[in-house]
Amino acid sequence: MSLVNLEAVHKRFGEFEVLSNINLSVSEGEIVAIIGRSGSGKSTLLRCINGLEPVQQGRITVDGTEVTAANADLNNLRQRVGMVFQSYNLFPHLSVERNVTLALKVVRKTPYAEARDIAHEVITKVGLADKFGAYPDELSGGQQQRVAIARSLAMGPKVMLFDEITSALDPELVGEVLRVLEALAADGMTMLLVTHEMKFAKTVGNRTVFMHEGRIHEEGDSRETLEHPRTPELTGFLDAVL
Ligand code: ADP
Ligand code: MG
Repeated sequence: MSLVNLEAVHKRFGEFEVLSNINLSVSEGEIVAIIGRSGSGKSTLLRCINGLEPVQQGRITVDGTEVTAANADLNNLRQRVGMVFQSYNLFPHLSVERNVTLALKVVRKTPYAEARDIAHEVITKVGLADKFGAYPDELSGGQQQRVAIARSLAMGPKVMLFDEITSALDPELVGEVLRVLEALAADGMTMLLVTHEMKFAKTVGNRTVFMHEGRIHEEGDSRETLEHPRTPELTGFLDAVL
């Protein structure tokens, strides 16, 4: 059964069609890498999946909920769809623990002791058990991004969306964040990730989707797609980024 499903999705900003006829089905536990030039529609695709952007045509379902339905409960949906961005936007005046427990308390009304236990578990999962009481400005960019991932995981999502989460990091900090994604993959988490890390897409992604001018231009098994591109557009893109 597919956990995330897009059927004939079209998204326009005014006259400009940013997503054209997107069809994509992601199974439980699958890891899909989304690649493509800047402006090809990758971020918009993720934002449509968790209902941050409305679409003009087509149907999107996540975990059995139709995101594109007029009466969709987007607050409920977003608890099942975690999203992490390039800018991690932690609250600077809150400790790591409180950054992670905030949504549990505010959105879920989770009692303090339970929220703290959940925070402990997810902060340990991202390798920061010793930073529970630290403040964001005491952490490296890579550590802050791992807290942002933990904050998302605390809500117990069924699927995680990652939008270029290592792009703003110094090169030596990228590996520690990718290792967290590898651990999530090993746990069976379903993930869609926009990335410029082609090696990571190849080794961890089950499938790679190449976006070009708002369309899925090529897709397939990650290794096959990245090692043997079939279109000049993907060949050109890979030549430019590798
Ligand atoms: P990518 O993530 O692949 O770089 P985006 O999804 O951010 O691409 O953007 C795709 C296209 O849509 C770009 O041309 C961008 O300028 C345009 N776009 C994105 N968001 C908006 C918006 N809110 N209003 C108008 N155009 C937008
Ligand atoms: Mg983007």
